[in-house]
Amino acid sequence: MRYGLACEDCGDVAWLGQGLLHLRWLRDREHIVREVAEHTSSGLDMWMMEGLEFLAGHRGHAVVLVSDKTA
Ligand SMILES: [Zn+2]
Repeated sequence: MRYGLACEDCGDVAWLGQGLLHLRWLRDREHIVREVAEHTSSGLDMWMMEGLEFLAGHRGHAVVLVSDKTA
């Protein structure tokens, strides 16, 4: 099972290699995660960076959490 963020408007999906709770956390607290990213020198985990990038690219779109049972 793998989980990702999907944009219902564009059909794009980002598989981030994290559990559902992590992805929901990122999506619901995107603004907080961005704040942390600006003030940390060590940087965020890769999946967080990729997740933020995806959310930024689909600003104002309907981004949902998706799962793939075949993976
Ligand atoms: Zn989109």
